[in-house]
Amino acid sequence: MENEEKKIPQVMLTGDRPTGRLHIGHYVGSLRRRVELQNQGGFDEMYIMIADTQALTDNAGNVTKIRDNVLEVALDYLSAGIDPNKVTIFVQSRVPELFELTCYFMDLVTVARLERNPTVKNELKMRGFEESIPVGFQCYPISQAADILAFGTTIVPAGEDQEPMVEQAQEIAHKFNSLYGEVFVEPKIMLPENEASRRLPGTDGKAKMSKSLGNCIYLSDDEATVNKKVKSMFTDQTHLRAEDPGHTENNPVFIYLEAFATDDHFKRFYPEFPNLAALEAAYRKGGIGDVRVKQFLAAVLNDTLNPIRARRHEWENKVADVYQILEQGSIKAEAKAKEVTIRARRAMQIDYFENRKNIEKQQKAYLKAHKQEEAYQAYLAKQKH
Ligand code: ATP
Ligand code: MG
Repeated sequence: MENEEKKIPQVMLTGDRPTGRLHIGHYVGSLRRRVELQNQGGFDEMYIMIADTQALTDNAGNVTKIRDNVLEVALDYLSAGIDPNKVTIFVQSRVPELFELTCYFMDLVTVARLERNPTVKNELKMRGFEESIPVGFQCYPISQAADILAFGTTIVPAGEDQEPMVEQAQEIAHKFNSLYGEVFVEPKIMLPENEASRRLPGTDGKAKMSKSLGNCIYLSDDEATVNKKVKSMFTDQTHLRAEDPGHTENNPVFIYLEAFATDDHFKRFYPEFPNLAALEAAYRKGGIGDVRVKQFLAAVLNDTLNPIRARRHEWENKVADVYQILEQGSIKAEAKAKEVTIRARRAMQIDYFENRKNIEKQQKAYLKAHKQEEAYQAYLAKQKH
């Protein structure tokens, strides 16, 4: 019984920036896992956050884009199979406790530590901020730590670009707990099992498919668009004729197949091969044309996206319902974040009005100094009633 009481609740939390619709990189990197975890039912609480405040850190002049994409990302979640009855979907800016925690956490991290974050370094380079880095952008790993820690998160299913963020959150939890007492749980990242899914490259062969780079296949792309995008994808540059031996490593078409193709897909769309290993071996040997492999990839992607497209179509006709899901989720998320924040304030001794003991101690000290012991006894008696 005692053990049961001490058991830490299992909490999942992840999020996405509403900077665009979600793409197949999000799907294999995190979204697919979230749906599996939801359906397995092993978590006590599950949260998915639309990180609008974080998206604004590099989009201050683009508020309409962020506003519009809050709905798009929510539609993508629901289409991918997230069930709002099982998962609390919420909007970051509607949970002000997150920003309170961010402020306290800022005092626990050095500027040098922030500047070492490899993901942020890379993003700064990609965005060409150079000398004009918004303070909010440089600090977003701290606010992300608040997002994670405010819910007692144990598991963050995410792609490998998020590893430094989860590490930062662990460090902050550790520092806070050792300075003020145990309040925060140290979270762990859950990376996709499949290597290709940890950082899906772009259709242009660039290291990461990213909303901000325009090299994406979106979950909401229709069949013709997917076919077109796959057709123009980068493959092995040395594989000029079908007869030539080809390379499968660093070949985006094969990386996508590794992330998406199942043996059942082979049975239905490429029965000459039983599985991906067999197709890869044949491609390396020579004799397999890129056009055929791309046809297969397009069939696999369309097969995966078809049910997602169908669900999106339904939700697109219920926009007000989608906003209601977000509003209800945000109310629920705020209640949880508030609980944790109250505990953090107490640990930091900034719970001025709730801390009766401290009020009494300070009063007692003054009464003593004023030699009013009698008044103090009367005061104590009054407190007891
Ligand atoms: P932005 O360019 O605005 O940063 P993004 O495409 O990088 O957008 P995020 O909202 O930053 O998307 O990431 C949301 C989640 O999706 C994170 O868990 C991240 O690890 C995962 N993710 C994003 N891109 C990929 C990718 N190409 N491969 C695997 N996972 C990805
Ligand atoms: Mg990103």
